[in-house]
Amino acid sequence: MLTGLGWVTFAAVVGVGIDFDHFLVAWYNTGDPRAIRYCLRNPKAVFVDQESIFYECELGKLDRLLSHMLVGGPVVAVLWALAPTLAALAAASLYVHVVADLVQDIRDVRAGTGSLG
Ligand SMILES: [Zn+2]
Repeated sequence: MLTGLGWVTFAAVVGVGIDFDHFLVAWYNTGDPRAIRYCLRNPKAVFVDQESIFYECELGKLDRLLSHMLVGGPVVAVLWALAPTLAALAAASLYVHVVADLVQDIRDVRAGTGSLG
């Protein structure tokens, strides 16, 4: 099983990795993998300029939250069958991620800098 650092790494990989679903949602919404091509051409943007990756028409706030639920639930279910302790950690990490997304989305909507669409 994992060591202390392994647990932290696993939680971080799950908590950050869940955002890769954004690329699939944007591709689904537009029929064009533009955001993937953009990041392959500008990998620095993934780390320092995430706001530049997606256009608002490609990825709405509700799209992101729905895709997190659609991906996260099955990932936790499969992990539960294989390694329940890892599943619990993945569930906790995903829960924190989605709550953080919701807090940011609420702030954006209230500040008038973002819409739910
Ligand atoms: Zn997210």
